[in-house]
Amino acid sequence: MSRVALITGSTSGIGLGIARAFAERGYDLMINGFGPEEEIQQIVSHFSATYGIKVGYHGADLSRPEQCVDLVHFTCKMFGTIDVLVNNAGMQYVSPIEDFPTERWNEIVAVNLSAPFHVTKTTLPLMRSRGAGRIINISSAHGLVGSPYKSAYVASKHGLIGLTKTVALEAANQNITCNAICPGWVLTPIVQKQIEAKAREKNISMDAAAYELLGEKHAIKKFARVEQIANLALFLASPEAELITGACYTIDGGWTAH
Ligand code: NAD
Repeated sequence: MSRVALITGSTSGIGLGIARAFAERGYDLMINGFGPEEEIQQIVSHFSATYGIKVGYHGADLSRPEQCVDLVHFTCKMFGTIDVLVNNAGMQYVSPIEDFPTERWNEIVAVNLSAPFHVTKTTLPLMRSRGAGRIINISSAHGLVGSPYKSAYVASKHGLIGLTKTVALEAANQNITCNAICPGWVLTPIVQKQIEAKAREKNISMDAAAYELLGEKHAIKKFARVEQIANLALFLASPEAELITGACYTIDGGWTAH
């Protein structure tokens, strides 16, 4: 029987890269996230045709707890199991705290932190009943260190690491692990927007803005690649990683070594 991976926020960026890596290994996939309908249909049909796997899509808005639960139930109904859960969907907003809109705070905490809670809470009993499971939370270097103007993001990503450790302990000795990946800068739409904002604000080129962004944080002046994050997720889902749980793995070019 083929294995099943549910990957939230997998219509773009890191989530899409993780979905591709699991598809290449023959996992059936549940895709989730926003985007134009035709693009999502293309992703679904490309994965199923290229890799000969079953692919489902659920458009749950993860800021809504009941839709988080429905996503898990829909996946179970379609596949009968979830072997790997990747809590990847995330959002960013940048503003000094005194101007930070409260509704943005609520939305970011809902998607980045509460959604992994709701999805994990609903998935864990199923993993327990099957006697196996892997949960991988995509946190961030901002789950380990702060930066100004990112109060909601930094707080939610720190919280996600706390959730990771707690789930790891609750699921220990049940052949279920829970770990976090903490990327530095990865060139995806969420970061592209920040580069554009910097280029506008400083009246510099996109390349100069990208290099400045890297320079502020990464010791190694390169963006991490989506494939590198995906390969680590694959490793954490593998039998070789059975004793790795409650851990945070950075792929951040030395950002958090400072
Ligand atoms: P992205 O913007 O390319 O992708 C985000 C995905 O989440 C998309 O599929 C989007 O549709 C989905 N999403 C957003 N809000 C949602 C909601 N309410 N309900 C359902 N889906 C929703 O960004 P990315 O860079 O691929 O980010 C993926 C994860 O990696 C995020 O959690 C992000 O915080 C984290 N991360 C990214 C970087 C980076 O440099 N790109 C660094 C560290 C951590």
